[in-house]
Order: sequence, then structure tokens, then C-alpha cells
Amino acid sequence: RLHNQLQELKGNIRVFCRVRPVLPGEPTPPSGFLLYPSGPGGPSDPPTRLTLSRTDERRGTLSRAPAPTTCHDFSFDRVFPPGSAQDEVFEEISMLVQSALDGYPVCIFAYGQTGSGKTFTMEGGPGGDSQLQGLIPRALRHLFSVVQELSGQGWTYSFVASYVEIYNETVRDLLATGTRKGQGSECEIRRAGPESEELTVTNARYVPVSCEKEVEALLRLAHQNRAVARTAQNERSSRSHSVFQLQISGEHSSRGVQCGARLSFVDLAGSERLDPGLVLGPGERERLRETQAINSSLSTLGLVIMALSNKESHVPYRNSKLTYLLQNSLGGSAKMLMFVNISPLEENASETLNSLRFASKVN
Ligand code: ADP
Ligand code: MG
Repeated sequence: RLHNQLQELKGNIRVFCRVRPVLPGEPTPPSGFLLYPSGPGGPSDPPTRLTLSRTDERRGTLSRAPAPTTCHDFSFDRVFPPGSAQDEVFEEISMLVQSALDGYPVCIFAYGQTGSGKTFTMEGGPGGDSQLQGLIPRALRHLFSVVQELSGQGWTYSFVASYVEIYNETVRDLLATGTRKGQGSECEIRRAGPESEELTVTNARYVPVSCEKEVEALLRLAHQNRAVARTAQNERSSRSHSVFQLQISGEHSSRGVQCGARLSFVDLAGSERLDPGLVLGPGERERLRETQAINSSLSTLGLVIMALSNKESHVPYRNSKLTYLLQNSLGGSAKMLMFVNISPLEENASETLNSLRFASKVN
């Protein structure tokens, strides 16, 4: 409760920056993008480095030297350096996730270029290593254990999960099974009923979940469905938005009170720009179209968030499938969190700057 009040004071969107580590085989940035704590005794900025410094636990500043002419400073609600473990990241969002039980719609995004760690953050690392589990399985495990406790106080909760992909402004079910598996049988975003404010996706599966194993099975299924599509469409997964939603419904046995809300995890399409100087062959036109669809839906998302934070009367939800689907999870009493995932590599520095600029616009 206290957390909820604090959140209201702070506004409804928070932005966290997470820097992934340098992976085996990648060049260690010798003079590139470094991360170190700032403050007394900290290293001073060498002239050509893009550095991310942490002023304290919560805030971070990224600057590109030489200062001051090309210095960019960015501040976030929290910065996770490359060594941050998945449980440390989850710890920071567990209360936010829990507020969905009280009826606050919660929407958590991962924004960043392909390879920056969005899927690692949301779903987790490769293999079944429980340490590497991402936010989605951890959030569900946490919710299952909290509602277990609440059941002693007369509350009964149920959870229904869906997982869709938005690719080139078409919606596809990632939980499809049987003959529909891996195929692009099209789904539409519709109102749940004539009187309803709820939006649902037609043709998509809505699956009740009540334990961790069921959630893991759904994530595996989504992974397979993406893999099937990937053989047909090169690297499609990085070109699409994945939206995992959990509809939470709670009811008190004697008080007749109902509550609950939707909790959404959105693994956004890679934010990288196509090189404008590139000459496109016939097969690449498709790719350009994709990039345009991605750029326009990501910028619509930015515009929606900005319109909300400026309390504008018109919010352009309908300008993209993504914001339309998330309409009820953005604005109003909804709580939003955006992870800006960035790469530590020097070769990615300009995309990193683009991501940080986007993030500072919505913050
Ligand atoms: P994205 O979804 O943004 O394209 P991924 O999540 O697939 O990026 O990450 C790219 C690679 O980096 C993957 O091999 C992933 O396992 C690894 N990776 C990303 N973040 C981390 C991290 N925090 N710790 C260890 N490995 C990471
Ligand atoms: Mg990914």
C-alpha cells in the first residue's frame, strides 16, 4: 500500500536502464563503452569513452565524452550494471507486480536494439538454469505464492495467460498448438463484448495457469512457435513485439468484493534503425517495410506515453496494434515500467544513444 502511494506521487512511469555484460567471444571494449561507479575516487572520464556512471544505487548517468560539447547525460530511476543478477532485477519490480492483485493494471516493457538483453530480461537465459530465469516466470511464481497466503484471508485468485506476437501490424498467437502451430493464422484485437472495455485477441488461446510448471510450459511453447516462424521469416523474432498478458481475477468469499487487473510484459521489437544509405535489393524491400512498421509502432508507443504524461486529451492508442492492445494497461491507474536494455559494445554505441534518447523522452 505504501508502495502504491509512493508510486502515485512519483507518476506512473518509471524507467530502468539495464546494461548487458560483454559475452564470451565479444571484444572487450578497450576504449569504448565502460561502466563504473562514479563519485569520490571514481575514475575520471577518458576523452573518447561512452561511459555509464552510477551516482548511487538508483540513479545513473550516461555521458559521452569529451565533455561538454558532445556530452549526453541520462538519468534513470535505476541502473543495472552488467553484473546484475536476474533476482536483483526482479526484486526491484516485485511490489509493482504485486500491485496488479490490488487492481492496478501493470505494464512492463523491454526496449532496446536486437541483442541488448530484452528477452533475457523478460523470459530468461538459455537452458533451464533457474538463476537465469527472467521476469515473467519470477513474477508468476511470486504471484502464486502471494495468493496462496491471501487464500487464508478468504481471497481466491485465478490467472489466465495469453502470449501474442505483433509482426508488421498483424497479430499472431504464440500459444497456438496442433495444426495452427507456427502458422500465421490471423488474430484480431476486439472488445470482449459490446459493453466491455476489455480488449481480447480473437483466435488466440487464453490459458488458465495456477503453477510455475504451467507457465514454463507456455514459455516453451511460445519459444517453439517463434522458432518455427523464424525458418520462414528470417530473424522474425527480433522484428516483432511479444506481449505476454496475465488476466488476474480475485474474489473475496464473504465480502463479495472482486478485484484484479491485467499484468503485461512486452518484449518490444529491436529498435535499431536500418541504415538509410543502404541500397535495397528486391528481397530487402520486405525488410524495409518491417522496419517502417516497427519504427512507427515504437514511435507511436513513445507518443502515447508522452501524451499520457503530459495529460493530453487525445492519446493516439489506435495508431498501432501494440498500443491498441495495451490501451487499458497504459494511462489511468495503470503503472508502467520500461527497461531500456543496452549493449556494452562500442560498435553499438550509436544505437545505445538512440535507445537512451528514447527512454529519456518517455521518462
Ligand atoms: P534481445 O532480446 O534484446 O535481442 P537477448 O535477450 O536475446 O537480446 O540477448 C542477447 C544475448 O545476450 C543472448 O545470448 C543472451 O543470453 C545474452 N544476455 C543478455 N543479457 C544478459 C545478461 N544480463 N547476462 C548474461 N547474458 C545476457
Ligand atoms: Mg529478443
